[in-house]
Amino acid sequence: MTLFAKIINREIPAQIVFEDEHVLGFKDINPQAPVHVLFVPKLAVANTDALGDDQAELVGRVVLAARAYARQVGIAESGYRMVMNTNGDGGQTVFHLHLHLLGGRPMHWRPG
Ligand code: AMP
Repeated sequence: MTLFAKIINREIPAQIVFEDEHVLGFKDINPQAPVHVLFVPKLAVANTDALGDDQAELVGRVVLAARAYARQVGIAESGYRMVMNTNGDGGQTVFHLHLHLLGGRPMHWRPG
């Protein structure tokens, strides 16, 4: 079981800021911006590469959850970044699909 599955199951504590039937949102333990929240589907999928072709709705729910939270905390207008890392070169370290919502400061684009 992954770390994020344990957070979903409340076996490991996290600062949970969003929850609905399908998605959990919790603060990243090592924040890279004033707002840095991870949104995960409750259904375990390793990453975007492991997604089934019939799982578009799962990703959509994660994106809409992050959008709702961004509006709630007042960063929708100033802007934010959503990131999903996949596998080694993508920098993925936890193999339960997650979306990083980053905001509260200007983002720069420095791939690598
Ligand atoms: P990634 O590198 O895209 O797989 O992102 C994994 C993220 O999980 C990193 O940004 C970590 O800081 C974060 N993280 C690791 N452990 C925890 C935890 N226990 N609670 C919250 N976030 C975590």
